[in-house]
Amino acid sequence: MTKARLHKPLPELTDQTRPFWTAAKEGRLVLQKCERCSTFNFFPKPWCIECGSRELHWTDAQPTGTVYSYTVSRSVAMNYPGWKDELPIILCLIDLDDNARLYGQVIDCAADEISIGQRVGMHFESISDEAGVPKFHLVR
Ligand SMILES: [Zn+2]
Repeated sequence: MTKARLHKPLPELTDQTRPFWTAAKEGRLVLQKCERCSTFNFFPKPWCIECGSRELHWTDAQPTGTVYSYTVSRSVAMNYPGWKDELPIILCLIDLDDNARLYGQVIDCAADEISIGQRVGMHFESISDEAGVPKFHLVR
């Protein structure tokens, strides 16, 4: 673990969120999928965002999507100095191909290269002994 990583916030793993983080540690994207209406839900919650069913099961999802929106942070975000070496940070809302939307950081991309509608792929970074985090990269 690098010193910079120590200054980044880590997710709180709960019974509701643990499958997402531990799958990311293994290099997989899993999302809750509704058994009743087949909607993928993100972020994890006890009921389906579309129909309210509590019949949700963790399911592998496609690690690809499209940039819905983005912002570029050119200063240290939220007072966490661990981000400083990564500036500027490109934070995006990504519409996954499985019709869920999630926040993510696009890396290996200059700030002026990002735009709405671009295709992105996902890879995973280990952030603790039991959690990983999805990161995105442009599909060129
Ligand atoms: Zn549903």
